[in-house]
Amino acid sequence: MRCKLCWRDAVEGEDYCTYHLEAYRRILEAYEDWRRAMDIGWEEFLREVSENPATGEWAREVALRLLGEFRSLSPSGSPFPPSPRRRRGTS
Ligand SMILES: [Zn+2]
Repeated sequence: MRCKLCWRDAVEGEDYCTYHLEAYRRILEAYEDWRRAMDIGWEEFLREVSENPATGEWAREVALRLLGEFRSLSPSGSPFPPSPRRRRGTS
């Protein structure tokens, strides 16, 4: 099975490859911390993560996917992970 976010093989029984799985786990951990510190919802948190310039590319891809906005992969399937495209000042 393939990682839902890239062309790598997914970890057995998981949706992601080791890299994206690691990023996913960090996001979950970070969310626990954030929730303790402030009143923030899951979606809001994912937006913060995906828009934070300090977020790594792996985590950003995971966050975008969880938001349902990850669509960088072409339907034919790119052999490479999506290139980072930072949106800045789009408001
Ligand atoms: Zn992956």
